[in-house]
Amino acid sequence: MPPCSADTERARHAYAERLRQLAGARLLLPLTVGVPGVNAGWGQMLLVTRLDQGYAARFVSLVGIFHCTGARSEDGDARLAQAYARAGMDTVRTVRCDAHPSDAGCWLHAPQVCLSTLAVPEDAPIAPAGID
Ligand SMILES: [Zn+2]
Repeated sequence: MPPCSADTERARHAYAERLRQLAGARLLLPLTVGVPGVNAGWGQMLLVTRLDQGYAARFVSLVGIFHCTGARSEDGDARLAQAYARAGMDTVRTVRCDAHPSDAGCWLHAPQVCLSTLAVPEDAPIAPAGID
């Protein structure tokens, strides 16, 4: 994986598929918001751990890093900026890839990926629907 950043939606496909294939794997993913006029962004490092029942996640540190070409979208950047502005990132517990409506457990809800404050459910499938 390249040492660069992405927003949550664009990172999903490349990283989630690889993580799904490796039982017990961990992924340290920089999730950044672009800085105007600079090919870089600031944000947080998200540590994702593949469990049998899903993907545990938590933010572990600040990060400033160059953008990964093609790994960003305006919508994803705006959604992440809004989530960071709300704070509460310390409450994130999981990455959800299953289709669900936005609810109180969603810290950052996007059409195909969600950073949730809910713990990994014990009856969740190993490979949640929606990862392609
Ligand atoms: Zn959600």
